[in-house]
Amino acid sequence: MNLKLSQHFSVKEFFTSPYPEKKKIYREFLEKTGEKKCKQNIDNRHTIYLEHIRTYFNEGKYKIEGKERSIILTSGWRFIDAKNPFKSQHPLGRGVDWVVSGIEPLEVKLYILENWRQDKILQLIRGIEDFDGMTWIHTDVRNSNRLYWFSKHGGTVSNEFYKTLIKNELTTLRH
Ligand SMILES: [Zn+2]
Repeated sequence: MNLKLSQHFSVKEFFTSPYPEKKKIYREFLEKTGEKKCKQNIDNRHTIYLEHIRTYFNEGKYKIEGKERSIILTSGWRFIDAKNPFKSQHPLGRGVDWVVSGIEPLEVKLYILENWRQDKILQLIRGIEDFDGMTWIHTDVRNSNRLYWFSKHGGTVSNEFYKTLIKNELTTLRH
């Protein structure tokens, strides 16, 4: 069985981990619980904005002839962390970690940041993490009326601050 959530995403992809031993545990949990039941644990807003972002990075200057970029999920639903039971959006089905193939995560974050205010679909995202050394993008759909940007600078710094920060980081990265 491969129960789909949208055109390019299936339930299975939300039950995974970057760590092989954990990946196995989530696979087994999915098989035992059943995809239909597991589907209820995934917030349906994720695939709406992920499809939207996927389309964006397959068009214009990002388009590659004869090939499609995909979004690869590295972590979706998670068991509650006993040490931090209320910290993560993942056990609520509201957090997801992912990458766009061939695109720097910083570039994706910049796109979200620059377009969030005028893009109703991107506005489904209410939390982003941007900590040093992150090689993936964490987005969540937490209950919030604004976009929370979690980093070492705190969650309340203005979006303008992050735009400048990310642009600088990208410039450094490209040189
Ligand atoms: Zn995450």
